[in-house]
Amino acid sequence: MSQTDPTELIYLDHNATTPLDPRVLEVMLPFMREAFGNAASPHAMGCAAHGVVETARAQVANLLGADPREIIWTSGATESNNLAIHGVAASVHYDTAGRGKHIVTCRTEHAAILDTCRELESRGFEITYVGVDPDGRIDLDALDRAVTTETRLVSVMHANNETGVIHPIAEVSKIAKDRGALLHCDATQSVGKEPVDVNALGVDLLSLSAHKFYGPKGVGALYVRRKGPRVRLHPRQFGGGHERGMRSGTLNVPGIAGLGAACELAQKEIPTERGRIAGLRDRLEQTLLGIEGATRNGSAEHRLTNTTNLSFGDHNAREMIQRMPTLCVSTASACTSAQLQPSHVLGAMGLTDEQIGSSLRFSLGRTTTEGEVSQTVELVRAAVRS
Ligand code: PMP
Repeated sequence: MSQTDPTELIYLDHNATTPLDPRVLEVMLPFMREAFGNAASPHAMGCAAHGVVETARAQVANLLGADPREIIWTSGATESNNLAIHGVAASVHYDTAGRGKHIVTCRTEHAAILDTCRELESRGFEITYVGVDPDGRIDLDALDRAVTTETRLVSVMHANNETGVIHPIAEVSKIAKDRGALLHCDATQSVGKEPVDVNALGVDLLSLSAHKFYGPKGVGALYVRRKGPRVRLHPRQFGGGHERGMRSGTLNVPGIAGLGAACELAQKEIPTERGRIAGLRDRLEQTLLGIEGATRNGSAEHRLTNTTNLSFGDHNAREMIQRMPTLCVSTASACTSAQLQPSHVLGAMGLTDEQIGSSLRFSLGRTTTEGEVSQTVELVRAAVRS
């Protein structure tokens, strides 16, 4: 690892993680210092912790258009995704309604979905992986053919972490509901960046993670619908019966307070922030597309306003990154880049390994400035010249 001073870096990797907003940190600090109580304790210290946990539950619910009783705390979106999929899959052992061991998902999902599905496959579940069009959006005709009255769960992400492409979740929901299947949505990349309403989307379960929108790492939530239909989720871990028995374990009170504060800030700031970030992203993208051989990956229209994923002809993205040590951007999703495999997301969209190898993801955020965009353009131009 290089020893570059972090203050000299240009950080355009907000889809990997975001900085903690100082206003969020302020909310968290008392619960790490003097107000350190256990939210399950009956005394004054416990009540203070319980109070902030319930305030945060309302803040998360508010952002999603949900009821606070529909929010379960987790350690992040990986756990939320596991709890949603395993929690619904386990119902196969309990309900006698006769639905099969069939789950439908999409080929461009995050590893936290795909690996969970593969695990279930090894235990006798049948998983259908639906493809995407060249723009990266789910093939709704294929989905329509895949979901049957035997399907227990459909899981489709809202926005893709590598391309920012947004799937038509309300249409996915119609297909799932038509066959009586539950719909889970991994909204880790859209919550805090886009308006996300569980009823407008028609989802039954939804995953989110605080560190993707200026909250702390290691805390997230799962939305679980209580009415129309009431989702019966089977716990994955057992203990003190916290979170109405669905997720036992002492609550991460400072983290939860931070997640709640991040939701409240997002709700206030999304309307203005989206436009500002879109303007910067579009300027960056338009200028970089002027480089010979550069092309955009994924739908221009249905996409997060902060993300652009570009291929640079016959340039190698890893070598480009080495030539730009002060720029933090990503070659594939940070979670899979350790494996050095060509991105399964860009592969599913039909890109060749060479095109994938020349792709960079730029993801902007709350602190990105005009000046940083200009400097990034210069760094990328120099990297392709050398
Ligand atoms: N889903 C998506 C779409 C993601 O981008 C990520 C983070 N890379 C996750 C799930 C996992 O989230 P967490 O880091 O909170 O476990």
